[in-house]
Amino acid sequence: MGPEVGGSPETGDCSEKMQLAEALLAATEKHVKCLRESYRNMGIVSSEDYKAALHTCDELREASDSARDALEAHIREHGC
Ligand SMILES: [Zn+2]
Repeated sequence: MGPEVGGSPETGDCSEKMQLAEALLAATEKHVKCLRESYRNMGIVSSEDYKAALHTCDELREASDSARDALEAHIREHGC
């Protein structure tokens, strides 16, 4: 995609960047929510269930890492 797509980089008003930032925020919130629920269940659920929950959190963390990489890559390539 060329620099013309998704708004004007000069003003920092890039709709694609905004979308990527929203996706990063959503992914981060999911990860934090997962951790909060896992810690809340610590000692309540079985250790196997607890480990499984932490594994889910790890996957959500990876998803949020990817979302951040995508945002950073976009800013680097687009210069916005
Ligand atoms: Zn951009």
